[in-house]
Amino acid sequence: MKPIVIVGGGITGLAAAWELQQQGLKYILLEASDRLGGKLNTEEVDGFILEGGADSFVAMKPAGWQLCKELGIADRVIGTNDGKRSSFILFGGELHTIPRGLRLIVPNDREGLLESQLLSEEGKHKMLTESEVPPRTETGDESLRSFMVRRFGEEALDVFGEPMLAGIYSGNPETMSMLATYPNYLNLEQKYGSVTKGTASVPPPPPTKREGPTSFFTSLVGGMSELVDVLHSKLTGDIRIGQGVTRIDPDGTVHTTISEAIAAEAVILTVTAPVASELLAETLPELSHSFQEFHTTSTGTISFGYKTDELPHPLDGFGFVVSAKEPTHLQACTWSSTKLSGRAPEGYSLLRVFVGGHRHPEDLALSDEELIDLGQAELRKIMGITAEPVVSRVFRWNEANPQYEVGHLERVAKIRLQAPAWLQLAGAPYGGVGIPDCIQQGRNAAKNIVSALTPA
Ligand SMILES: Cc1cc2nc3c(=O)[nH]c(=O)nc-3n(C[C@H](O)[C@H](O)[C@H](O)COP(=O)(O)OP(=O)(O)OC[C@H]3O[C@@H](n4cnc5c(N)ncnc54)[C@H](O)[C@@H]3O)c2cc1C
Repeated sequence: MKPIVIVGGGITGLAAAWELQQQGLKYILLEASDRLGGKLNTEEVDGFILEGGADSFVAMKPAGWQLCKELGIADRVIGTNDGKRSSFILFGGELHTIPRGLRLIVPNDREGLLESQLLSEEGKHKMLTESEVPPRTETGDESLRSFMVRRFGEEALDVFGEPMLAGIYSGNPETMSMLATYPNYLNLEQKYGSVTKGTASVPPPPPTKREGPTSFFTSLVGGMSELVDVLHSKLTGDIRIGQGVTRIDPDGTVHTTISEAIAAEAVILTVTAPVASELLAETLPELSHSFQEFHTTSTGTISFGYKTDELPHPLDGFGFVVSAKEPTHLQACTWSSTKLSGRAPEGYSLLRVFVGGHRHPEDLALSDEELIDLGQAELRKIMGITAEPVVSRVFRWNEANPQYEVGHLERVAKIRLQAPAWLQLAGAPYGGVGIPDCIQQGRNAAKNIVSALTPA
């Protein structure tokens, strides 16, 4: 049998390879860059553990933990330091604690919201009367903006919705799909007539006998690349780093940057939508065109290591998000050495800021030096940090953050129907951007191929 070709060596592609290996199928994984992992990219610099992309994964979705167990690294999985779990919102130039009882956007404690300085009286009233807003009569998708303004008000969108819900996707609330990102809120509205009522009515899930750390987010002792490195070391198939794909033919032949043509039994495509569109442009133009309907944004992260005693701030939380109308270039800031242990050497602290996204895409045109200056200037303004960092490092994710826009689920269904039977689409552009979602999608793509190859 011809090999299965996996295009892309991010976590989706690696998980697909792992699953194919478990099923005894021959595979070739082609990764264009000079390293595996994609948006999992840890660098150790002078005792700091710097994460360029993802720094942790949701523990509740089992695919991440399950993979760590299969790889024999369950004892390397660590939880976040939940004793210091509070987070802040930058609003009016100052860091505010999140109102007591607020569950992302849902106020579960009236007094907690009333005490907050984050909204006007009118804004608080609108949020607290969400239960009186009749449920939407139309069905189908709507934008995050439309949903938030309808139910909780414009101020709630700016202060909570954009930073906390859109921020995860570096997305624009005007275009972001509720159905593809937060369908639970739409379901609560329909089932209980109101999201607030629904949230209060649904009992908290019983404590599960989940294995591993009990925190919401988990990581690995050595950072997220530890998962990539261990996975790589256990893959016995043909893994080619620095060998990209240039074209895929309608019969499944995969052409590479070293001018090789690989006849594939099936192909698992895990690259971003713009890259997928390019690879199929000449050979499957209709499918290639459909990929152009999927948009991306560019983001960057800048990590800064400081001597702790030179910081004017106690870093007493996991960091801050940024309210929509703040005049800053930062999207958010993680206080990494508070969030996770072992991220900075003794006596030092690590912070990382997020830039770019839909608000400031132009910032990605700056040089690394300019981005570092920008990040420092913003941290000086917001947190009063005047010390020089001992370590600073920029990571860029150009056109790499998939945008789940209104109609996303329909576009994914359409593209899956258009794809020939030998082509599996998996990864962040389609069914979830989180690491467990990507692992699950990679493994599912491999399983789909196995089912297709198994005689009925
Ligand atoms: C800054 C940032 C922070 C994040 N934080 C978190 C977090 O804390 N938790 C979480 O769960 N998720 C987080 N995410 C999202 C998550 O990291 C990604 O959605 C996930 O890693 C995507 O994996 P993937 O394999 O689908 O794609 P990618 O990681 O993008 O991998 C695709 C691979 O394809 C390769 N490639 C491209 N073109 C070609 C070609 N022509 N031929 C061969 N190979 C090619 C690329 O080099 C890349 O290695 C974050 C993302 C970013 C950008």
